[in-house]
Amino acid sequence: VHPSTSTVLSDAYDAAVARGPMESEFHQAVSEVLESIAPVVAGHPEYVEAGILERLVEPERQIMFRVPWVDDDGAARVNRGYRVQFNSALGPFKGGLRFHPSVNLSIMKFLGFEQVFKNALTGQGIGGAKGGSDFDPHGRSDAEVMRFCQSFMTELYRHIGDQTDVPAGDIGVGGREIGYLFGQYRRMTNAHQSGVLTGKGIGWGGAQVRTEATGYGAVYFLQEMLDVRGDSVEGKTAIVSGSGNVAIYAIEKLQQLGAKPITASDSSGFIVDEAGIDLDLLKELKEAGRERISAYARRRPSARFVSSGRVWEVPGQLVIPCATQNELGSDDAAALVRHGVIAVAEGANMPCTPDAVEAFAQAGVLFAPGKAANAGGVAVSALEMAQNAAREHWSFEESELRLRGIMADIHAAAFAAAERYGHPGDYVVGANAAGFVRVADAMLAQGLV
Ligand code: GLU
Repeated sequence: VHPSTSTVLSDAYDAAVARGPMESEFHQAVSEVLESIAPVVAGHPEYVEAGILERLVEPERQIMFRVPWVDDDGAARVNRGYRVQFNSALGPFKGGLRFHPSVNLSIMKFLGFEQVFKNALTGQGIGGAKGGSDFDPHGRSDAEVMRFCQSFMTELYRHIGDQTDVPAGDIGVGGREIGYLFGQYRRMTNAHQSGVLTGKGIGWGGAQVRTEATGYGAVYFLQEMLDVRGDSVEGKTAIVSGSGNVAIYAIEKLQQLGAKPITASDSSGFIVDEAGIDLDLLKELKEAGRERISAYARRRPSARFVSSGRVWEVPGQLVIPCATQNELGSDDAAALVRHGVIAVAEGANMPCTPDAVEAFAQAGVLFAPGKAANAGGVAVSALEMAQNAAREHWSFEESELRLRGIMADIHAAAFAAAERYGHPGDYVVGANAAGFVRVADAMLAQGLV
């Protein structure tokens, strides 16, 4: 007797919870994926027989290590480092490193799990992983960040490689950190293995458009969704959260396509600029200066800074949350719906809570989950790996064209899967189902490993 689909799915969920009862973010990500792949699993008893679901929710390998370093006062400090190598059926493990005080095993597993499906959707032959540390780079000197990165890599280097596992950046890990990490890897291994990390500097193996890719890609995805309805981003007001890499380049692409982004935020609050964001100023303060977002309002008469309150209460038709997980809840979604939001694309990973996603669906708002909308970043990382392997360097124009094509393909795959599995227009089901089928088929073909 075959167990019913719902029993199979709840067994997989229970297995994930039993192995990590305190990991709420990971459970949230697992339950979202399992719920939306029910129609796929129902049609594929061979996945169930091969134990695909229970294997999918258990990482292939989880690494945790001590990271000791010395601060500028000469005091000894200790952080914890992680690398969760989730699934390598489609290619080498691939995914970013996050340095943020909130990092714990639950966050690492949720991000690694999402990465598996996201990376599958890119069609680029990359498995899924995530890593990082609870190290807080805020207020740390350059020298402290360098010493931390060197110590972190002194442990991590033995677990990675261009055919094995290829880390990149995420929150708190940008070009500076990738540089220090790469330098230490090169020293430890006596090999200039450029494909071991992505997000490198353009002069030493980095790819054009990698910095811009996540933000640009999210806007391309938004444009694809609107296109289906005969609409476009042009002339629309956009609400963006965050002020890192993803937010800055989402704002840039929105402006290039004729939309008007009016907000940005960081952990201290948000700014509203009714005249439209001054991108040069934002870049000067956040990319070069590492300043707080309030500095923007001090320099721009058309802008105001809000330290307590929700950026989601600012009216706009397009919404791109680019800060962090669970930053947009059901009350926020209700406010956005009241103010006439048309489309939401997740630039961050899982920024909308399940209740918020449900509220958008009820209101008929177009919604793109992060694993589809923010896949442009890791897709261009895969292009960086390809260029490193071929010892080539592609132009900005060529790279941007490829990114655009990949985002259109991801949209098409998610759209088609949503129709095929009986949820037309539901990009959550579409993205999860399309990504899942690619991973599950590879796992099935490769046997019980
Ligand atoms: N951290 C990014 C993400 O969440 C990029 C990962 C990568 O380029 O490997 O997808």
